[in-house]
Amino acid sequence: MSGVAFIGLGHMGAGMAANLAKAGREVLAFDLSAAAVERAVAAGCRASASAAEAVASADVVITMLPAGSHVRTVWHEDILPHARPDALLIDCSTIDPDSARVVSEAAAKLGFRAADAPVSGGIMAADAGTLAFMVGCEAADFPAVETALGPMARIAIHAGGAGAGQAAKICNNMLLGVSMLGVCEAFALAEKLGLDADRFFEIAAKSSGQCWSLTTYCPWPGPVPTAPSNKGYEGGFLTALMLKDLKLAQAAAAASGAATPMGAQAEALYAMFDGLGFGGRDFSAILQLLRGRLAEL
Ligand code: NAD
Repeated sequence: MSGVAFIGLGHMGAGMAANLAKAGREVLAFDLSAAAVERAVAAGCRASASAAEAVASADVVITMLPAGSHVRTVWHEDILPHARPDALLIDCSTIDPDSARVVSEAAAKLGFRAADAPVSGGIMAADAGTLAFMVGCEAADFPAVETALGPMARIAIHAGGAGAGQAAKICNNMLLGVSMLGVCEAFALAEKLGLDADRFFEIAAKSSGQCWSLTTYCPWPGPVPTAPSNKGYEGGFLTALMLKDLKLAQAAAAASGAATPMGAQAEALYAMFDGLGFGGRDFSAILQLLRGRLAEL
């Protein structure tokens, strides 16, 4: 597999395309932003003048776009009419499962192999080639998808058929939003009760409160040196993106009839935090809202 069309070279796509080029794949890069294409060329990709031109000779097509509307437009207008019939089409954006199913089904009708493969891990993981991919596709196509994603991946897991990757992604991120708020509330209460934060961390990390939001991504500065809380909550996974994923989860819950009251609370709290102007901060900074210390951000 050598020719990869990569469409959407933003915060995530830039590092992903660069890792494909580094692995020796010929990457045909396109983005509406000329500056993004220039950066991709500096990282070893070849510039394409349009998405249609990029996909015309590629055996793998990857999209990494902001939302479902962008994916529907690019797939329907640029990819499906111009891609090679034997091309493998993979969307890595985070979008609603319905849009994912619609584009996959349209692709399948035309005889393409297609997959939704959203990622877990932020910009650092995209740059390092250590993303986790959750893949929705025909079981028979998964080995080819896994090979195509290889240079960008720590792991790729087959979630099920079309749309299952997006479903897994929004369920996972709803769980993450809820668990982060739980950890933040526990630290806020511990503080009010006069508990030393480091001592509380040590105890909860070895008790039943242990979870990723606590021991890998601790919102309280100090106990986990690599967490964004130690870098002024800059970088990491932005509040605005967590809010986007929580909204997708709530829309999916409403459409499917699932009861997700904690997810609804998480969406409301992150909407408030975003509305206060903190959409560009890491999502663990919501600790300071719960502590009543927004002025410290
Ligand atoms: P971004 O806004 O930085 O990049 C999107 C890129 O798509 C931009 O460069 C934009 O110019 C380009 N684009 C938009 N419409 C286009 C079109 N019609 N043709 C070609 N290019 C077009 O976004 P991002 O942070 O890279 O995120 C991309 C996707 O990954 C989103 O769906 C996001 O939810 C998801 N995601 C992001 C993160 C993160 O930490 N940033 C983590 C996990 C998943």
